[in-house]
Amino acid sequence: MREDKIKTFENILRKHGLKVTHPRLSVLEKIFNKDTATSQPDLERSIGEDIDRVTLYRVLSAFEEKGIIHKIFDLHGTATYALCSTQCKSHEHHDEHVHFTCSNCNSVYCLEEITLPNISTPSGFTIEQVSVNAIGICNKCKTLKDASDA
Ligand SMILES: [Zn+2]
Ligand SMILES: [Zn+2]
Ligand SMILES: [Zn+2]
Repeated sequence: MREDKIKTFENILRKHGLKVTHPRLSVLEKIFNKDTATSQPDLERSIGEDIDRVTLYRVLSAFEEKGIIHKIFDLHGTATYALCSTQCKSHEHHDEHVHFTCSNCNSVYCLEEITLPNISTPSGFTIEQVSVNAIGICNKCKTLKDASDA
């Protein structure tokens, strides 16, 4: 891992009140380096030799609780994780953007530029979380398809 990257990850951990540990740094790096959400099986495959499943599970739940990552389910109901916006805090997520799942490659994207509208609720109802999941073909798959059609 590069020195400046490590610094960035250490800062993220400290900012959220977590001690810097090797498993936490590795998981953060994997999630950080992808432009799509990373699934738990993906993480197990890529850092499984380094970190056992229980540790991975604990790291992911601590990150989610502290507001470092948020969870999105893919088309198969598998949990995937993406980095949070900087406004997320402990037990308080602000990831009100559209999640796009590709029906071809099953990648999950955070479309952070598309924010969700405010929804007014009938009296007596309190919204804790709103999620909008769009399903379609992602730009990578479309490019591949266009190339094979040509
Ligand atoms: Zn969040
Ligand atoms: Zn795709
Ligand atoms: Zn997201």
